[in-house]
Amino acid sequence: MELVLASSNEKKLKEIKEILKDLNFKILTLQDFSDLPLVKEDGKTFRENAIKKSKEYQRALGKIVLAEDSGLQVPALGGAPGVYSARFAGKEQNDKKNIKKLLELLKDIPKERRRAVFKSVVAITFLDGKTKVASGTYRGWINFKPKGRFGFGYDPIFIAPQYQKTFAELSPGLKNRISHRARALRKAKEVLEELAV
Ligand code: IMP
Repeated sequence: MELVLASSNEKKLKEIKEILKDLNFKILTLQDFSDLPLVKEDGKTFRENAIKKSKEYQRALGKIVLAEDSGLQVPALGGAPGVYSARFAGKEQNDKKNIKKLLELLKDIPKERRRAVFKSVVAITFLDGKTKVASGTYRGWINFKPKGRFGFGYDPIFIAPQYQKTFAELSPGLKNRISHRARALRKAKEVLEELAV
């Protein structure tokens, strides 16, 4: 059976592929297809965006599609950047600029109010058009400066309390076992495993 991963973020795709690697599916990505529809991520929640992406690509490709929408929420900023995480500092996704903007907004905020949560919502749309959703979160806080060289996005400023290190300081293997994405995908994997037996 085939499963299409509907994401164009290379680093995110790498993490998803790694987590799903022992699944009994042939993994395809959007790069394996041409004439794809343009799916606008205009939902108000990660859930809305994930469902929209998986449903629209499933309809266009006629294959089982897994889409993931994720981001960072900072309560001290009213939940921002939230669904705007990828393009927080402008239309083009730029991780460095996004980090700079977030640190600037939090510059006078003390440690106890720098709580943050990563969220990941995974939607799988099956051949009959039905969709299953799974989600995962990871709670931590925003550091005062970037640290570490691994990962992507906000990883260099997101401290995992259990390790007292940023996600970018953890080995990619460790991040991929504990992250919000790993938590959501482990649940999604159970659904797919049932299908593959
Ligand atoms: P999406 O491709 O619209 O889901 O964008 C997700 C955005 O949220 C990314 O571009 C990052 O800025 C941020 N993000 C999501 N997951 C992670 C993560 O695991 N580490 C760091 N940043 C993340």
